[in-house]
Amino acid sequence: MTQTALAETRTAEQGMAAHARAWLDANLPDALREDRPSTRRNTVAELCDWEAKLHRAGLVGATWPKEYGGGGLGLRAHLDISREIGRTPMPESVNSIGKELAGPIIMAVGRPEQKAEYLPAILEMRDIWCQGFSEPNAGSDLAGLRTRAVQTADGWVVNGQKIWTSGASKSRRCLLLARTGPVEDRHRGLVLFALRTDTPGVDIREIQSIDGERSFCEVFLNNVVIPEEDMLGSPDEGWAAATRVLSIERATNRMHRAWRFENQLNHLVSACLSDPATRHLAESTYRRALAEVSVNIELLKGHVETLVGSLIDGQEIGPRGSLPKLFWSEAHQGFARLALEIVSQFPVEASDTLRVARKRMEDIYLKSRAETIYAGTTEIQLDIISKRILQLKRKA
Ligand SMILES: Cc1cc2nc3c(=O)[nH]c(=O)nc-3n(C[C@H](O)[C@H](O)[C@H](O)COP(=O)(O)OP(=O)(O)OC[C@H]3O[C@@H](n4cnc5c(N)ncnc54)[C@H](O)[C@@H]3O)c2cc1C
Repeated sequence: MTQTALAETRTAEQGMAAHARAWLDANLPDALREDRPSTRRNTVAELCDWEAKLHRAGLVGATWPKEYGGGGLGLRAHLDISREIGRTPMPESVNSIGKELAGPIIMAVGRPEQKAEYLPAILEMRDIWCQGFSEPNAGSDLAGLRTRAVQTADGWVVNGQKIWTSGASKSRRCLLLARTGPVEDRHRGLVLFALRTDTPGVDIREIQSIDGERSFCEVFLNNVVIPEEDMLGSPDEGWAAATRVLSIERATNRMHRAWRFENQLNHLVSACLSDPATRHLAESTYRRALAEVSVNIELLKGHVETLVGSLIDGQEIGPRGSLPKLFWSEAHQGFARLALEIVSQFPVEASDTLRVARKRMEDIYLKSRAETIYAGTTEIQLDIISKRILQLKRKA
């Protein structure tokens, strides 16, 4: 990059926080606000429309190359935007797997024509992606996966079953991990595909979860033929790419979540303070517990900012991605339990402010139950931290 281009990029980066804040304040529709009353769930089309607007405003894909629709900026700009997105009570992305997992993998191992086809479609919300890694007997132990891919003259023929595939029924592409050899090969012979979900032989079945949503899916693959051009990387690169996905998922995915967490805490406290009947909940009964949540949020911000600093310095994240994942999921789940206990004490005949906060905290509680499971369970994070960061020996 020339000195002039570098200076232009720095100026653009420095203005991103202010731009993001002003744009979000001016453009987030009331219907999408999580701190306002709502009578219905937003449709996927409405959410895609909103996210496409975010992209056009430069708030999505800030670090992606300009030639693929990105902003060509650095990670610091992404962090600045993420803070503002977190502070704004807006819905989570319906395409975070595309933007935060598939996109970075495609940039790392994809061929130029794959990048040109897949990447702009993700940012423009033409293609939603899902992640087909977990199987009924391969979750924590991903290297035990059994879905088989056999190379033929017509392409790869894939057979197997995936489970817990979030958002599969609304996705156009699936980041699919399969194996080319025997199960005993474990990490070797794993291959990654950009599977089109409308390919014959792909059978997607939704599973209703505790919060009433039907986002989870089982995906059955019966003699699915995947063209050679939809293979990502080489047949033996699957495990390296998969572990990179997991490290990104744990470390930098949803970078906004510390600030979203803070927004949720502030919402709960301001709701309590809005009514003389509930004031004491924040001011005395739960004052200490709420203060502890606030300290956890500051620690979590520190984790994220340290990791971003390391990445900017060109360091590998590796197992350190487990730290924010573990800390966020445990702290947020604890907050969700506390929030539910507090809103359960709101009067039955509550004001709009209290009712909206109660509904939001109940939703947060239900969703939080899975936070210590997805992207690797708490036990797996503790195992990684003890072995790979602390270098502890297994007890005899
Ligand atoms: C909301 C949600 C969304 C998800 N979305 C996706 C998705 O989009 N795509 C996808 O591929 N997967 C997805 N998953 C699956 C998720 O990655 C797995 O559930 C997770 O990796 C755990 O695997 P498992 O469910 O098979 O449990 P198991 O691996 O069978 O674990 C069961 C229990 O045993 C413990 N355990 C297992 N191994 C060890 C060990 N070595 N040491 C100590 N304890 C251990 C675990 O901590 C857990 O408590 C999602 C899961 C959830 C809950």
